[in-house]
Amino acid sequence: MKAKITFAGGAGGPTGSNFLFETTGKKILIDCGMTQGGEEDEATNKLPFSYDPISIDALFVTHAHLDHIGRIPFLVKNGFRGKIYSTPPTRDIVELTFADAISIMEHDAEKKQTEPLYGREDVAEALSLWGTAEYGEKISISNDLNIVFHDAGHVLGSAMVEVKYGAKKMLFTGDLGNSPSPLLKDTEYVKGIDYLLMESVYGDREHEDLAERRNLLENIIKETIQKKGVLMVPIFSLERTQVLLYEINNMVEDGKIAEIPVFLDSPLGIKITEVYKKYKSYFNAATQAEIKGGDDIFKFPRLKFTEDVQDSKAIRSVPPPKIVVAGSGMSSGGRILHHEKDYLPNPNNTLLLIGYQAVGTPGRLIQDGQKQVKIYGEMVDVNARIAVINGYSAHRDTNGLLEFVEAMKDDVQKVFVVMGEMKASSFLSQRIHDYLGLKAFVPKKGESVELEF
Ligand SMILES: [Zn+2]
Repeated sequence: MKAKITFAGGAGGPTGSNFLFETTGKKILIDCGMTQGGEEDEATNKLPFSYDPISIDALFVTHAHLDHIGRIPFLVKNGFRGKIYSTPPTRDIVELTFADAISIMEHDAEKKQTEPLYGREDVAEALSLWGTAEYGEKISISNDLNIVFHDAGHVLGSAMVEVKYGAKKMLFTGDLGNSPSPLLKDTEYVKGIDYLLMESVYGDREHEDLAERRNLLENIIKETIQKKGVLMVPIFSLERTQVLLYEINNMVEDGKIAEIPVFLDSPLGIKITEVYKKYKSYFNAATQAEIKGGDDIFKFPRLKFTEDVQDSKAIRSVPPPKIVVAGSGMSSGGRILHHEKDYLPNPNNTLLLIGYQAVGTPGRLIQDGQKQVKIYGEMVDVNARIAVINGYSAHRDTNGLLEFVEAMKDDVQKVFVVMGEMKASSFLSQRIHDYLGLKAFVPKKGESVELEF
C-alpha cells in the first residue's frame, strides 16, 4: 500500500502548517495554519489551496496556535465540509482565538478597504464540524486508516497526530514542547513510528534550562524594580502568558521579588487563562499537587487583569516600577504597541522577548537591534533594554529535538524536517543523519512524496 504526503504548508518556513495525507480512498489534512511574518509572507494566505478542499475527508488539528489553525475557516469557505478533530482544550481555545482573529481581520480589512480572508459565518461553520478526542483515543476514518492523538507538551491540549495506515505508522509532531514545562506534562514518546514528520523551529539553537531561565527572569524583574522602570513583555496569549503568570506567582509567593503592579493586558490571554483553569488534569503532577494544596496558580497580590479598554488605558497612570504583559507576541499588533510607544524611548525600561520572533515582524527587528521602529505611523526610538530569554519558548531546542528522534529511532525509516527557517531545518536534518544514522529530508513547500505503508 502507498500513501502520498504533500507538504502544502509549513515547509520552507516555520509557519503555515498544512500537510495532506492521501490514500487510495481517503484524504486527510493535518493542520491548516496561517503563514506569519512580513506582508509578503502573509499575502500567501489569500492564495487558493493546492488541493480541492471539497475532496478532504477530515482535518486533524495539532494545537490552537494560528500558524496551525488560522486558515481553517478559509478552507470551509472554499467548500470543505469534512470532520475536524482536536483535543477538547484545543477546541475551546480555537473558539476564542477565532473570535479574536476575526475582529482583527475585519478591522484591518475596513482600514485597507479590502475583504477579510473569511467571515464570521465560516468560523461558525468550522466550529459546527468540530469534534474532540482525548489523547490515546482512536479515531477511525476507514478500516485501514486510524488516527490517535498523543501529548506534545507544547501548549494546553497540544497533540501529535499518529496516522496508522495498513501496517505502518506516520507521526506528525505539530510543535513539540520544551519539556519539562512548568505547567504541562512532558512530551510523549511514541513507539513503533515508521515515518516521522517533525518541527524544527529551534532546529539550530539551544535554550537555557529551567533554573537558568528562572534566574534570568528574576534578575530582569529585580532590575526593573531597582531602576523604577517598566517591564514590557510582548507575549502569545496561549501558554507563554500562563507560564509567565505562574512563574511570577511563585516568585512573589516565595518572597523572591517585591510585590509590584503586574498587568495582564490581553483580553484573549485572560480568556485563555480561564480555559487553563478548566482543564487542570492536563497539568503535570507537581502543578496539580500545588493546586490541590490550595494555591491559585494564576493569582497573586497586585496582579490585575485589564480586559476593558478603560482599564488598559489606566495602566499608563500607574507609577513605575510595573510589569505589563500584552499581545501580540511578535509586536505586530495588539495592546503591546501602545505600551511600546510609551515606554521604548526610556532607557530605564526593558522589553523582554520570551517567544519566537518571525522574520519580518517588528519584534524581530527590535530583537536584531534596530534602534527605531514604526508604531502607528510614528517612528519611536528604542532606548529601552532589550532582553531575550529563549528558555521560555514552548518549543524544544536542537538538542531536545534530536533526543526526541533518538528515543524513537529503532523503528523510524525516514524523517521529514519541516516547520523551521531553512537553516534551522537543514541543520537539524544533518544532525539526525550524522548522529542517528537516519534518512532525513527537508522538503520544499508544495512537494509531494510517496511512502510505502
Ligand atoms: Zn505552536
